[in-house]
Amino acid sequence: MEKKQNELKPIGDLLPKLLKEYKLDIPLKIMKLKTEWAQVVGEKIASFSYVQHYNKSILYIGVLNSVWMQHLFIQKKSLIFKINDFLGGTFVYDLCFKRSGIKKNISSSTIQPVEEDKKMEYDSSIKDYVLSSQTIAKIKKDTETIISPLRRQWRNILVLQEKKKQVLLQEGKKTCPICGNWLENKEKICLLCQLKKRSEYKREIRQCLQLMPWLSLEEFVEQGHIPKGCENYIELYREVRRDCIYHYMEKIYLNVDTLEDNMMLALFITQSKPYEITDEFIERLTKKYHMRNNKNKKKR
Ligand SMILES: [Zn+2]
Repeated sequence: MEKKQNELKPIGDLLPKLLKEYKLDIPLKIMKLKTEWAQVVGEKIASFSYVQHYNKSILYIGVLNSVWMQHLFIQKKSLIFKINDFLGGTFVYDLCFKRSGIKKNISSSTIQPVEEDKKMEYDSSIKDYVLSSQTIAKIKKDTETIISPLRRQWRNILVLQEKKKQVLLQEGKKTCPICGNWLENKEKICLLCQLKKRSEYKREIRQCLQLMPWLSLEEFVEQGHIPKGCENYIELYREVRRDCIYHYMEKIYLNVDTLEDNMMLALFITQSKPYEITDEFIERLTKKYHMRNNKNKKKR
């Protein structure tokens, strides 16, 4: 994306920060993703899939049929990468593919404010809350460099957000100790930070399994490979194994697999040690996947 840096300097500087701070950037980004889907994932994929909605770091994608669904599933990791790259940050942690025969028309009316914010906006206790004169003065000062018609709108947004914050604090709501987002019910850290922690744990487990793909869950635990503080290691261990298998299968699918990749795939699938499997076995296994792919490719 190009930035017009010379024009409207004060807003250019302030807008992204304000949008981000008040979480208005996500619905806009998702809207942009919907309309520019073909650019992000390519014409071919866009011809049979579309963005449905986004909720709690998961992007829901409608897919026309199950053959395409499988096709997308194999490429999930690279799709997440492309999407986040387009969005300009790690907003999407997972994709959920849904079978859906109809490709919906995308119009601007599909922008939905975050559910919680919508509810809050109309909450009268928030509207009626009276902010201190210092807070009002601070908001005025923070926005004084914005040009005239926008300034008033931003002030209104900031005032509303500040009122919401005060009311929530009075109600005993807490913020995430890591990032400051509002916490739901009894959460200790927010969903986004939980997801970040989760991907850190997964990275540690992946590093371990890449070195020893044969490790069973029991061996993984017994030999002390559980990342420090990780409680859901059973689920993550399984997920990492699955991810690794998909990773090597994807390489075969794209025809960029090496002998080493094929051996890793065989080790992950069989959970054997390198001396326990033969070259012929690896060759047979890989051939099977290559053949399956060719068949699928011909079908389309
Ligand atoms: Zn957080």
